[in-house]
Amino acid sequence: MEGIRKEYKNVWSSYTEEDMSQVFEYADRYKAFISDNKTERECVRSMVKKAEEAGYRNIEALIKDGAKVGSGAKVYANYKDKTLILFCIGEAPLDAGINLLGAHLDSPRLDLKPNPLYEDTELALFKTHYYGGVKKYQWVALPLAIHGVVAKKDGEVINITIGEDENDPVVGISDLLIHLAKEQMEKKLGEAIAGEDLNICLGSIPLKGEEKDKVKGNILKWLNDKYGIVEEDLVSSELEIVPAGKARDYGLDRSMIIGYGQDDRVCSYASFEAQLEVTHPIKTTATVLVDKEEIGSVGASGMQSKFFENTVAEVLNLVGQYSSLKLRRTLANSKMLSSDVTAGYDPNHPTVLEKYNAAYFGKGVVFNKYTGSRGKSGSNEANAEYVAELRKIMADNEITWQTSELGRLDLGGGGTIAYILANYGMDVIDCGVAVHSMHAPWEITSKADIYEMRKAYIAFLINA
Ligand code: MN
Ligand code: MN
Repeated sequence: MEGIRKEYKNVWSSYTEEDMSQVFEYADRYKAFISDNKTERECVRSMVKKAEEAGYRNIEALIKDGAKVGSGAKVYANYKDKTLILFCIGEAPLDAGINLLGAHLDSPRLDLKPNPLYEDTELALFKTHYYGGVKKYQWVALPLAIHGVVAKKDGEVINITIGEDENDPVVGISDLLIHLAKEQMEKKLGEAIAGEDLNICLGSIPLKGEEKDKVKGNILKWLNDKYGIVEEDLVSSELEIVPAGKARDYGLDRSMIIGYGQDDRVCSYASFEAQLEVTHPIKTTATVLVDKEEIGSVGASGMQSKFFENTVAEVLNLVGQYSSLKLRRTLANSKMLSSDVTAGYDPNHPTVLEKYNAAYFGKGVVFNKYTGSRGKSGSNEANAEYVAELRKIMADNEITWQTSELGRLDLGGGGTIAYILANYGMDVIDCGVAVHSMHAPWEITSKADIYEMRKAYIAFLINA
């Protein structure tokens, strides 16, 4: 009988030539974004620039001017260049609820320790402290780049990017040669490279005239000549060590993308484009792009911060609708797609997923009714009625979607920012795309999936 089975189809087969060119154009824009923006600060700064070009105004300036805004107004809030929230005011009152997209901008990486620089056997090195869930053995024997800021006592903040221009040097972490690796090779994979082994090699030329640590002295002189910084300035720095190089097409048919930081910039970037694309909505639309998800959504720039709620209160005030009760109603009546990446079925590692409830490359945007581990622990589970509403929006807008769980039962699991927004009583579902090699220095996604995800976000913002 027609229509009684659900078949999850490969979307590539249904694309027209016009669709294909749009899929590849979007992939090129996304690749450029993740190649140029490898830290949360870089992401926020470049998004603010694009948002302002699209007519978005800084909420702080509007508050300072005592301005009021009406429907169609575009407003953004930037929390310390790490978290960004964008609003497009709808025709309906805000307490009818906001259609909200959310994702995170931070990615696993190696941060510098507060006293990073030392010398050992006339080599200068940086000590690092890894950020987020990394398999440490994946970070050795790779060209690495340094991205971030150094804040000086006089208030100046210096931006640093080393290792991305083809004429730049790169840095890295050496691995042990196979010839002497008998003991290392007998260790467990998780112990073969320890956290304290992740030291970045910086240089080997001694500075003439120095008494001790001459190579370290030479690196300090180089940093001082180039950036005007001294060793103590590194205490107030946020320098992130990330894979050097650009995102690229992956596969002979160019159907995939390999790049750093796709968890979760693949969802953040699609959410951002969708937010900008939808203008003059009926219900207010918003996109929240947060920091610190990889370490538990904590801290002032994480999703658990009051920054989001405070910003919604400010927006209510800007449109002349603020009251404490209306703030609560606005949050409770909102609907959210909380976007993050999910494990894609990988023929190299088939046993970790349950194949009837796994996400596959080419089968579209993924909805996870729940995440969590061991009996859905720690999960936000979306309401059945909300899932049904989303199915209708996807069907009406011809969007290819699939569902998945994060892995086989009792194996592990993971969480996202979904449960935090669900605390307000709003409808939230986890949504995103499948990834291969998630959290590795180079992660892989499908161009068809990311294109369907962007379309899904636009349809959600307009129709939810
Ligand atoms: Mn993530
Ligand atoms: Mn992650």
